[in-house]
Amino acid sequence: MSARLIDGKRIALETRLAAGRAAAELLARTGIVPGLATVLVGEDPASAVYVGSKERACKELGIASFGFRLPASASQAELEAQVDALNARPDVHGILVQMPLPEHLDSDAIIDRIHPRKDVDGFNTLNVGLLAQRGRKPDFVACTPAGVMVLLEHTGLTIAGMDAVVLGRSNIVGLPMAMLLQRADATVTVCHSRTRHLADHLRRADLVVAAIGRPEYVRADMLKPGVVVVDVGINRVPDPTTNKGYRLVGDVDFAAAREVASWITPVPGGVGPMTIAMLMRQTVQAAERAARGS
Ligand code: NDP
Repeated sequence: MSARLIDGKRIALETRLAAGRAAAELLARTGIVPGLATVLVGEDPASAVYVGSKERACKELGIASFGFRLPASASQAELEAQVDALNARPDVHGILVQMPLPEHLDSDAIIDRIHPRKDVDGFNTLNVGLLAQRGRKPDFVACTPAGVMVLLEHTGLTIAGMDAVVLGRSNIVGLPMAMLLQRADATVTVCHSRTRHLADHLRRADLVVAAIGRPEYVRADMLKPGVVVVDVGINRVPDPTTNKGYRLVGDVDFAAAREVASWITPVPGGVGPMTIAMLMRQTVQAAERAARGS
């Protein structure tokens, strides 16, 4: 049996359009235009591409985008002053400092300098702490795992009670993913590079979220029949038959896994497009909260 595809492209588009409608409604009601400030330090080409896509998405949806570029030589004090200035601006509802920062800068201190109410990336310690605690509600959640939850909602499946394995424990994907699934009442196992008997954990799982950055690492024989597979990994593998000389694959052997799973996300076109869509949604939510004064 071939798994049903979770169409991230379509769901991301719907999420973006909904954010655009919410932005238009906020403007009509209050005169407030949601605003996202993006801060890029240095010349890293991949980071510049990411920031460019976020700025374009804002423009498409009626969200104001304020771009700030600092040289790679910028000091911690300069970057902190930039963040402080954006925290103080009423027309900026979300602040995104593109990671990774040059090595001489303290990323954690910068992330925590962003006001929690403007932390639309959801990386701030306060928001992560609130996510971790039962009965508490963070202002924002890391966009990629938040996007995975939206994808899962679209399947109509009940997450409560599922045995879920999250593969990877990074601050931006694995850790918040595990917390979100636990909040949705899954029983969550987090696996990482020191996990023994990884395949045994995977074979027990009703739901696998793979976020390790290892091309096609999860094989079909590691999966339980009927499992739901969400593949966060984005890996380039050489492919001389393509114009670019490479193609993108996930952390899961998609072709084989789709014969075992009940639902699966493709790469590309699965989780990938959700990240910016969630950033747009959270920026509009930040502006709505500011308008309510809450
Ligand atoms: P990190 O490199 O920060 O973390 C990787 C995690 O995987 C670590 O926890 C590591 O364990 C674990 N790991 C690595 N190798 C293995 C292994 N062989 N077995 C088990 N666990 C392993 O990566 P990210 O979390 O930032 O990203 C993960 C993947 O998701 C990447 O492919 C990335 O490109 C993609 N990604 C996609 C996004 C999107 O779709 N929009 C957004 C962000 C990421 P340990 O902690 O022990 O080192």
